[in-house]
Formats: sequence, structure tokens, C-alpha cells
Amino acid sequence: MSLRASSSSILRSGIAAGATRGAAATLPLRSGAVALPRHATLPRARAPAAPRSFSTTTRRAEEYESPFGINSLSKLTEEEEMLRDAVRRFAEDVVAPRVEAMDEAEKMDPAVIKGLFEQGLMGIETDPEFGGAGGSFTSAIIVIEELAKVDASVSVLCDVHNTLVDTVMRKYASKELQEKYLPQLSESKLGSFCLSEPASGSDAFAMKTSCKKSDDGKHWIINGSKMWITNSAEADFFIVFAQGDPSKGYKGISAFAVEREHGIEIAKKEKKLGIKASSTCTVNFDEIKIPIGNLIGEEGKGYKIAIEILNEGRVGIGAQMIGLAQGAYDKAVRYAFERKQFGKPVASFQGMQFQMAQALTDIEAARMLVYNAARLKEEGRPFTKQAAMAKLFSSQVAQRVAGQAIEWAGGQGFTREMGLSKYWCDSKIGAIYEGTSNIQLQTIFKLSQAEMGL
Ligand SMILES: Cc1cc2nc3c(=O)[nH]c(=O)nc-3n(C[C@H](O)[C@H](O)[C@H](O)COP(=O)(O)OP(=O)(O)OC[C@H]3O[C@@H](n4cnc5c(N)ncnc54)[C@H](O)[C@@H]3O)c2cc1C
Repeated sequence: MSLRASSSSILRSGIAAGATRGAAATLPLRSGAVALPRHATLPRARAPAAPRSFSTTTRRAEEYESPFGINSLSKLTEEEEMLRDAVRRFAEDVVAPRVEAMDEAEKMDPAVIKGLFEQGLMGIETDPEFGGAGGSFTSAIIVIEELAKVDASVSVLCDVHNTLVDTVMRKYASKELQEKYLPQLSESKLGSFCLSEPASGSDAFAMKTSCKKSDDGKHWIINGSKMWITNSAEADFFIVFAQGDPSKGYKGISAFAVEREHGIEIAKKEKKLGIKASSTCTVNFDEIKIPIGNLIGEEGKGYKIAIEILNEGRVGIGAQMIGLAQGAYDKAVRYAFERKQFGKPVASFQGMQFQMAQALTDIEAARMLVYNAARLKEEGRPFTKQAAMAKLFSSQVAQRVAGQAIEWAGGQGFTREMGLSKYWCDSKIGAIYEGTSNIQLQTIFKLSQAEMGL
């Protein structure tokens, strides 16, 4: 029996040949199972673009058709819309009840990770041949956005695993490595992406972690330390970048597939301002020996892999930030309709409504930047500048909206109990990881300068 056929999940249930629309799949983690609509085949990354539908209405894709063949950016395929509904339920029913406890404990609940795997959300773009769902990049973006509405920590866990780790393996690894690791990454093993080091953050290619071939030529030997590694406390699999020949500069860097069992040491876990349930640790490599075939792509081409993959990853962080902003907005506005002052709901005051309308407009603008970057990527068109803009702007909007949401809820908003202050703390990371805001600005300006021929 194939991995796909043996799994019941949000994604896989819909892919299975002959899946019937309207039939129900269940979420296993919830007490009192949730009936989920089954969806038909997910759009494949290389398939011709399917017609999209307005996601903000209750109507479905087929009810809208542009007579000119050009669709709005908020159009999603029917399958993407159904995936959004299903992930929303998973986030509300499985993640939401655990968010406060996970944040206080600064620890991811293993049941959430298990649930993400069981629902097929950890191999979204991976080919069904390797146990994945064969979905579009936009499908991954939608999942990250929906999870972030409820918890940015769970969202980044899923984001790093899908947009960085899975994608490196899908795009650059040998067939042998794909056959070995992609099914594990789709089914049960969490991945980490190890690029940053204590002395190399924005200047990532100044890394000191080294790699060399063993004397018998059968192994790579890795030495050094990586810092700030997301998912590392729980991960079994690590994409590691290391320098093989400092005299070649960034062209000496290679990428490797490393298992925890190869002898990785997970060291200091950071105590952070936000995304506290997401583990961020130092990872040490002390004469780690890995098989020679675990080189990903060509020797000395690691820099290229890192650059290309982080372009995609930035769209994912943009999605995390718009989800977070929307989650904070929804929570605060609902409260503002319940809270009465001067005999009226505080949301009925024009001063409040104008701020809320502005926040919604900002979120919508950020969402369009994110979706546009995702669709450009799917179409195989250049998207580096748009990805940088999407991440930059979404993180700014997330910080602004999450901060305002606290104010809309007054003193209650300032308590940890209400959960709004968590959105604000979580929002800060959007301007830092996968390239700080200054680095995004640098990219945007450099590319536009080149486009102008200057
Ligand atoms: C919670 C968290 C999770 C992370 N997860 C991962 C992970 O999974 N894998 C991984 O590899 N890394 C990860 N990182 C690392 C992250 O990508 C880096 O923190 C980020 O790239 C910034 O590097 P730095 O912290 O060294 O800051 P620095 O590079 O020291 O930057 C400090 C300041 O200087 C500015 N600056 C630097 N260079 C320039 C320049 N040329 N022009 C203008 N301004 C500049 C920056 O914008 C910033 O404001 C994570 C970090 C955090 C905090």
C-alpha cells in the first residue's frame, strides 16, 4: 500500500483517486471528530494554472469567471479554498486550545506536530510518490497563513519544514536522497534549516562551519556551530550549510542532509520575546561524519541553494505575518463589539472604526503582495523583488495591527490572558528572520536599480 493511500489527512484524502466531493474525512486529534470536506486533486506545481475563485466570498470558484481570462489575486482554486477551510478547522480545534499553555511553557505540544503530519500538512508540495500532497506553492502559503491566525509558532514550524527543508530536498537533492528522506519528512520527521551562525547572520556566507571529505573518501566531516535554528529541539533532520574551501569565498559553501543520529548536539535553547513555543537552539557539529552521498546538489553550490530557497521562504514569512495580523484584528474587533462604554459597544465609535478600516486595508494590501509573489513563483517568473516586498510590508503591517489590537481592547488587551499581547510579541520576528527588513530593502532597491539600467 502506498504512503498516500494509507494516510487519512486533510490533503491526502482529497488526492486519493476517486475521492468524492462532500465525503467526510476526520481530524483525529479532536475530541468529537470534525467532519472535513474532501477535496479533489490539489493543483500540482507544474500543472497549467487552474481558474481561481474569490476567497473572500461564500461563493465558489466556478461561480466566477473573468471574461478576459485574467483573474484577481484573491482568486484561489476550489481545492485551495477547501484546504483553507480544513486548515482553519484544524487550527481552531487542535491548535487554539493549546496556544496559551504552549506559550507559557515555551514548548511545542508534540500532539500539534503529530497532528500536522497526520493531516498531510508537512509535505504540501512534495510529490505523492514520496508521500506528499503534490500541492501548489500557494497551498503552502494558505496553510501558513491560516495557522498563524491562531499561533505564529505553529505556523513557523510548518513554514520552515515545508518552504525551506522540503523544498531544498525536492529541488536539489539526488533521487537517492529524495527516496530516503522525503517520505520521512512527509510522514513523521521534522526538519530544520541550518544557515546562521553566531558571527554570520545577515552576512550568512561568512560562515565558519567547515566540511571536508574523509581520507577514505566515504564521508563528509562537519565541524562548527549554527545558531538560531528553528525546530531544532524537535527535529530529526537538518539541512546544513558548511564551508569547504574558504579561499573560494561563498563558492566554497555546500549543503548537506544530516540526521540527528549522525551525532548532532542540540545546545542552548533561546528564551525569546515571541514565538516562544517555536524552538530556537544552537546546533553543534563536532567531527560529525555523514555519508558522502548526503551532499545536496553540487559541491560548492550551497550558496545558490540558500539564496534561491530563502526567496521562497520569505513569501512564507509574509504569509505568517498576514495571518498573524488578521488573527489579532479578528480577536480585538470581536471584543470591541462586546465591550460597552458610554452605553455603546466601543466598536461603534467612529474613531475606532476608522482605525479598524485602515488596519483591514493594510492587511489586504499585504495579502495581495504575498499572493502575487506566490503566483509569480508558481508561474516560473522572477519573484525575488516581490518576495522581499511581501515580507517587508507584511511584517510592518503585522506589528502595526497587533499593536493597535491591544489598544482596541484597552486594559484587557494588555493582559497575557487575553492573548492579544502574544500576537504583538510574535509579530516582531517578521522583521528579523529570513533576512532583516534592511536586507529586504537592500534587495528591493538593488533589483529596481538594475531594472532601470542604472
Ligand atoms: C527566532 C529566530 C529564528 C531563526 N531561525 C533560523 C533558522 O531556522 N535557520 C537559520 O539559519 N537562521 C535562523 N535565524 C537567524 C536569522 O535569520 C538571523 O537572525 C537574521 O538573518 C539576522 O542576522 P543577525 O541576527 O546576525 O543580525 P545582524 O546581521 O547582526 O544584523 C543586526 C542589524 O544590522 C542590520 N544590518 C546588517 N547588515 C546590514 C547591511 N548590509 N545594511 C543595512 N543594515 C544591515 C540588520 O538589518 C540588523 O538590524 C533565526 C533567528 C531568530 C531570531
